[in-house]
Amino acid sequence: MHQRLLLLLSCLLAACASRPVQETAPDGTDVILAIHGGAGTIRRSKLTPEQDRAYREAIENALRTGFAILEEGGSALDAVTESLQPLEDSPLFNAGRGAVLTAERRCELDACVMDGATGMAGAVAGVTRVRHPVLAARAVMEDTPHVLLAGPGADAFLMGTGLERMDNSWFQTQRRIDQLDENLADAKHGTVGAVALDRNRHLAAATSTGGMTAKRYGRVGDSPIVGAGTYASDATCAVSATGWGEYFLRGVLAYEVAARMRYGGQSLAAAAHGAIHGTLTEAGGTGGLISLDAQGNVSLPFNTEGMYRGWIDSSGRITVQIYDDE
Ligand code: ASP
Repeated sequence: MHQRLLLLLSCLLAACASRPVQETAPDGTDVILAIHGGAGTIRRSKLTPEQDRAYREAIENALRTGFAILEEGGSALDAVTESLQPLEDSPLFNAGRGAVLTAERRCELDACVMDGATGMAGAVAGVTRVRHPVLAARAVMEDTPHVLLAGPGADAFLMGTGLERMDNSWFQTQRRIDQLDENLADAKHGTVGAVALDRNRHLAAATSTGGMTAKRYGRVGDSPIVGAGTYASDATCAVSATGWGEYFLRGVLAYEVAARMRYGGQSLAAAAHGAIHGTLTEAGGTGGLISLDAQGNVSLPFNTEGMYRGWIDSSGRITVQIYDDE
């Protein structure tokens, strides 16, 4: 009898240990969409209460946009592409309208989407006219046999897609022009990204950015590069990164999260933290990422002072955070 009790106890313990650990979301369960709006030197003292509120509202609005799609049974791919569009239109973020300027004083936009269900991906780099680069990335994925189109060739392809186009001056806001003139070191980051999990347990990721202030003509960052700034696979996780792109490129950091899970047997949180607080930090890079696995665990590590970020669970409960002490 005593022995049987012991056996039962050890079985119970083993069952508990093998359950996926819910590590980051305070409520612990079932996150279906997470969004970031960039990482960097974001301090309480630097944002007015109005700015603080405006960022939180924009992230919340994006979460609601994606949630509405997922709640109706829509795909994770639709959720990430739709939820990023209001952020691309918002001048608050370094993507679409309000993107940072190159040294040549224009906006060159990068974006990527990846579908964790099929492993398909699409991306654009250095595009100058399309209003929603995330839709451009999706068009490359769906309408071409390629993964990444760059520069004038990408702009030419997009002319034929019917996607909305704007003059490059529409993307350029006074705030970004001033930042370029002042060469503000802390104004360098601010990409937008989304990761989603749909009812069919499929994952997707998307990232959209203007890159980094005063970047060279033709510079491409990590965001549109599969595995560096964006990655999704149903077998592991969906990841969208933000930060100093060259470090994410060299470290192939979005994929590192998946590799730590797949080959190292790590949980999502251990993998995401290892990539940011281990690999990225040791290399001297700055930034963060949002990540989601097929069990609805979310992890949003960053090594900067802040990262605009939020997530929503399947009951519609929203959390939005900015600073590192939240
Ligand atoms: N990672 C982006 C880039 O280097 C910038 C950012 O996330 O702020 O292009």
